Amino acid sequence: MNAPASITISPILVADLFVEGERMPVYVHVIDHPNGRILVDTGMTELHPAVVAAFSPRLYPLSKQDFDLAGIDIVVNTHLHADHCGGNHLFAGKPIYVQRRELDNARNEDDYTIREWVDAPGVEYVPVDGELELLPGLRLVPAPGHTAGMQVVVVETGGHPVVVGGDVAVWFGELDEPQTEGQLRVRALDPELVWLAHEHEPWRPRTA
Ligand SMILES: [Zn+2]
Repeated sequence: MNAPASITISPILVADLFVEGERMPVYVHVIDHPNGRILVDTGMTELHPAVVAAFSPRLYPLSKQDFDLAGIDIVVNTHLHADHCGGNHLFAGKPIYVQRRELDNARNEDDYTIREWVDAPGVEYVPVDGELELLPGLRLVPAPGHTAGMQVVVVETGGHPVVVGGDVAVWFGELDEPQTEGQLRVRALDPELVWLAHEHEPWRPRTA
């Protein structure tokens, strides 16, 4: 299906993590579609001992930014690691799309995430099994690797698609030389660019 040309994607910085002295940004992405406003991942809104110990984070929660929480119609979680779902509670009552496998793993595996952030009061998931066309020209595509239940959002633009990839690659090198099923799948889409959660700029294929 051809997508309207008017789909836009905006990155929003919601945290900085510090890993071995290196700053690692955490971005979420807003997709403005003619039929609705979609938020991909939700960052973090509060500190938690487990996260502080690992990342000494600095937070810029959506709830403390000039951001219209009520204007979001649909939330998508690429996966449920703590730095991607910590703001889910801000969207209680709105549909939050996640792969069923990811939700099962987050609820059942030890040391996977911060479980009370996943199942915060009022949070309602729409479990997805495989690919799903969420809106015209906008689909969810499983991309296992970083986690088994990882998914990405693929936006048709008329030319090469644009991908909102979460942690399908944590840094550019992982897409330059794809290894996981998810990375290979994203590359096979021949995307124009791929937005990632932990990079400031989108990844682009190197022109030969
Ligand atoms: Zn992750």
